[in-house]
Amino acid sequence: MPRPKVAFYWCASCGGCEETVVDLAEDILGVVEKVEIAFWPVALDFKKADVERLPDGALAASFINGAIRTGEQEEMARLLRRKSLLVFAYGACAQLGGIPALANQYSREEILSFVYEEAPTVDNPSRTRPAVVSRDNGVDLHLPAFHGQVRPLCQVIDVDYTIPGCPPTPNLTREAVAALLEGRLPPKGTVLAPDTALCESCPRKDSKPSDLSFTRFRRPHQVLADSALCLLAQGIVCMGPATRGGCGAQCIAGNMPCTGCFGPTSRVRDQGAKMLSSLCANLASREVEEIDAVLDGLPDPVGTLYRYGLAGGLLRRRIDTSANT
Ligand code: SF4
Ligand code: SF4
Repeated sequence: MPRPKVAFYWCASCGGCEETVVDLAEDILGVVEKVEIAFWPVALDFKKADVERLPDGALAASFINGAIRTGEQEEMARLLRRKSLLVFAYGACAQLGGIPALANQYSREEILSFVYEEAPTVDNPSRTRPAVVSRDNGVDLHLPAFHGQVRPLCQVIDVDYTIPGCPPTPNLTREAVAALLEGRLPPKGTVLAPDTALCESCPRKDSKPSDLSFTRFRRPHQVLADSALCLLAQGIVCMGPATRGGCGAQCIAGNMPCTGCFGPTSRVRDQGAKMLSSLCANLASREVEEIDAVLDGLPDPVGTLYRYGLAGGLLRRRIDTSANT
């Protein structure tokens, strides 16, 4: 009996999600025995034409990590969607935009002018920028278009399942592949991780007071946190209350706050807004000047509260009417 064909693809991401597949260690051998890897360009020599040649729906599943920023990424996502019975958004960038989507605070023009003209290390007196088409020695050279915003996969193609995390854990990956192979996947649209907040499975949850009464916020490098106490109780912004569990509270185990990579639970529409609301409701003072002083301890609210979820949240990006989309 032919083995189901699967594909792995990498869009706007750091490559960590691909590492997770390798982190399956010896379990990857069991996976490889049961599936035929039809496309995995980061690890094996496949070409786009290999996918184009497949009949539509020939792939049992595509695992796509990374957000969509360029024309090439969008084209590949659409191609894999057409060829796949199921598409899995794999990791925080595919799910919510992830770290690359922090660039949505800037317009396309601001990014290009800084990177190619203003950055202190750039020497580009002719202000040359990459073009989608350029001509050199009589040959047309093509580059992918750089879009005006970063989008999560579900804003570009229909997504069947999501495996969250930056990166997803080997356990979640193993379980998702097993569910696929054994035909026991949950209903379409499910995020394949527990639908409970991280705090509920955190080993420090008993030390989290119901009234946090923040008088100051401290960043992880400013204090040696007590490794037995809830980090929020120590004034360190931990995204646990607004983040889905299922990672084994890995950052907490390392005495670092959760930065929110598993995204929100199904009951939270906007992870950053949920956390902001929770922090503000727990400020000790009601005096404007004192509140401002406490909030000074949160110098990068977007980078803290929307580190992974900006493009997938309600705000999505800063509006710039001159930007291309
Ligand atoms: S806020 Fe962070 S440290 Fe505190 S209980 Fe929740 S996950 Fe654990
Ligand atoms: S503790 Fe938070 S940031 Fe760390 S792996 Fe878990 S969900 Fe991601």
